[in-house]
Amino acid sequence: MYEGPVQELIDELAKLPGVGPRGAQRIAFHLLGVQPGDIDRLTRALDRVRNDVRYCEVCGNVASDVRCRICSDPRRDASKICVVEEPKDVQAVERTREFDGRYHVLGGALNPIKSIGPDKLRIRELLVRLGTPVDGVEVAEVIIATDPNTEGEATASFLVRMLKDFPGLTVSRPAAGLPMGGELEFADELTLGRAMSGRRALSEPPRVLTDPPERPRDIDRDAEPHEPPPEPPYDPAAEPPYDPAAPTYAGREG
Ligand SMILES: [Zn+2]
Repeated sequence: MYEGPVQELIDELAKLPGVGPRGAQRIAFHLLGVQPGDIDRLTRALDRVRNDVRYCEVCGNVASDVRCRICSDPRRDASKICVVEEPKDVQAVERTREFDGRYHVLGGALNPIKSIGPDKLRIRELLVRLGTPVDGVEVAEVIIATDPNTEGEATASFLVRMLKDFPGLTVSRPAAGLPMGGELEFADELTLGRAMSGRRALSEPPRVLTDPPERPRDIDRDAEPHEPPPEPPYDPAAEPPYDPAAPTYAGREG
């Protein structure tokens, strides 16, 4: 234990994610040695985080205005929404430069242990967005880019079920290849970029054109099972003639 303000600083720093007691001690003594101007800038940054950070009214990303930079950019395709857990995931997808649409930040993932249910996430806001055209553009695709871990997958399944029957909407997931059990932000840019560009549709709007269906049956896991074809009526003439030499189960056992 150190005396007074130094220990107080160490205690506060040690509460930060990824900073253990030893790291906190290192940072504290580093700060003791820096120029007063550096301390002032750090204090100001902390102060601004508390007072000036806002969340975009549309997507929930951190913003310095009513809307974030991406939602106020008319060049970003408003027909595509990439759903992520946290603002840091927006940055991760942005770094790949593979996505030109907009985002929706859920504010976390479903987690029954921490009692985070659908009502704690910004799911209602997402549904409102889907029903409201932005600048005359309707949302045509929702890409669910939650973390590739248990909570993220559970959240994705929940959203897929919820959005499956939304008229005119394609719901997709980034392609396989993201490290399982991890978080989106730790995937390298190339892997995440490939997963985004190779995303696969989980549900698509019903086709109204005369095109033959292009969707392979084997990915249609959520579809209702088809009724088996009716059995033909019993015809004794179709039975093979009795052959006493033919092996039977009883015969093989003996
Ligand atoms: Zn926004």
